[in-house]
Amino acid sequence: MNLNDKIEFSDNKILLFEKKLSETKKVVITSHKSPDGDSVGSSLALYLYLTKKGFKVTVCHPDPAPPFLNWLFGFDKILNLEEDFIHVDQLINDADIIFCLDYNALNRTGNEMESLIHRSGAYRIMIDHHLYPSDEFDLSFSDINSCSTAQLIFDFIVALGDRELVDVNMGEAIYCGIMTDSGSFRFPSTTPHTHEVIAELLRIGVSNAKVHEAVFDTNTLGRLKLRGYAIDNKLEVLEDQHTAIMSLTKSELIRYNYQKGDTEGLVNVGLSILGVEKSIFLSEGDGYIKMSFRSKGEDNPINEMASKYFHGGGHANASGGKFEGTIEEAIAEVKRVLPEFKK
Ligand code: 5GP
Ligand code: MN
Repeated sequence: MNLNDKIEFSDNKILLFEKKLSETKKVVITSHKSPDGDSVGSSLALYLYLTKKGFKVTVCHPDPAPPFLNWLFGFDKILNLEEDFIHVDQLINDADIIFCLDYNALNRTGNEMESLIHRSGAYRIMIDHHLYPSDEFDLSFSDINSCSTAQLIFDFIVALGDRELVDVNMGEAIYCGIMTDSGSFRFPSTTPHTHEVIAELLRIGVSNAKVHEAVFDTNTLGRLKLRGYAIDNKLEVLEDQHTAIMSLTKSELIRYNYQKGDTEGLVNVGLSILGVEKSIFLSEGDGYIKMSFRSKGEDNPINEMASKYFHGGGHANASGGKFEGTIEEAIAEVKRVLPEFKK
């Protein structure tokens, strides 16, 4: 297996990175708003690796990570801007290097984090797998064909010649990122290389059973009932548009004791219905409606709809966005624009 043949991890870029690292003391790892399995997994894997290499590293995310990931080693070390502004502000300001993981443009970190990163004089290194990488970074490792940023973190460590430094704690974080972003190895982004990386992780002692159970077979009662309620009462199928729409208001979320991450994956439930090719999930957040978009098929991208009408974007078949207004208005807007994207 040759893991060093990827153009993104070319010798030139790796040499540039190693030179930069030799002048570095303080490293900050950032990721996108609303952290998920891949952003948290890749952040912690890189954090553990660079800490092992002797650097002073902090993970600074824009907002808190979802509790369903709290079993990951180092989870309790993650700082976030929302809850610890002064500390995060100072760390970003003092950093020599800022890693930008799992996002393709600084605005994905939210307005406040974006302006802190802009203000900091740190060298910005991006490692990401989203389409359309922006040119705001000093060094970019972008591979839009990678199923996850976590897989790229593994490739990155291997390209640096440090494969033997990957331990079980890092391995679980990488496994978690790959597993969540690849839909448990079922999305088309899953490649032979993905399975090769996973095989390496199993060889060093990562337990696939542990990671799957922690993420998918662990529910609070509220989470489970919320999902049941949403599927039973809040799922609408537009047969002529081959589209499923599901929504949850703030009061419904509160009724089921909502915790961050509890609605993760609900959008895929809609997409699993026979005949459905697009699925949209909407939930009421603080001041705006958060939207998740999923679609099936190469000829049926949904990121165009997310970016054109809902201030978002993402991958061709998995995107996100937002809407300012009521949830009813958001649903009406979805229904109004859907015919434009009929395949
Ligand atoms: P999710 O539905 O899981 O929140 O997001 C699905 C995908 O869309 C993820 O890859 C995520 O990075 C991307 N995404 C989510 N929200 C946004 C957004 O507001 N803007 C852009 N450009 N991408 C987003
Ligand atoms: Mn990702």
